[in-house]
Amino acid sequence: MDNLEEMYNEIIMEHSMNSYNKKKLASHDFCDLGHNPNCGDEIEIEVKLNGDVIEDMAFSGHGCAISQSSTSVMIDVLKGKTVKEAKEIIAIFIGMIKREITDEEELERLEDAIAFKNISNMPARVKCALLAWHTMEDILKKLEEGEK
Ligand code: ZN
Repeated sequence: MDNLEEMYNEIIMEHSMNSYNKKKLASHDFCDLGHNPNCGDEIEIEVKLNGDVIEDMAFSGHGCAISQSSTSVMIDVLKGKTVKEAKEIIAIFIGMIKREITDEEELERLEDAIAFKNISNMPARVKCALLAWHTMEDILKKLEEGEK
């Protein structure tokens, strides 16, 4: 195991235990449920907007360490971003897991979420890692369609 891999594992571990993002917001504009029947992961993501900026996010639910950690890291990365930036970052994350995006500069936009890069070597865990990101994709789609 090299140092980079160790650092990645540390990020994943840290977020899987008692994440500060695991809570309910006082109020939210959008929320959605994500469910991964393969593993039993269930999450609910809440989003509060300020104009087109993601002002706050939180999640609740349960599941394996990878799903919980991926959700928490995603919240850290997307909070404070515009909706447009969030969509780009989500696409990069999904592209990284599918190994369609390998460009270092592009991957840097993922900030700590790059820690999940090696999940693509563990097919059984891929859906766990992607759950929050697909759920957030759905939320942004609803948002664009103007639904609540
Ligand atoms: Zn899982």
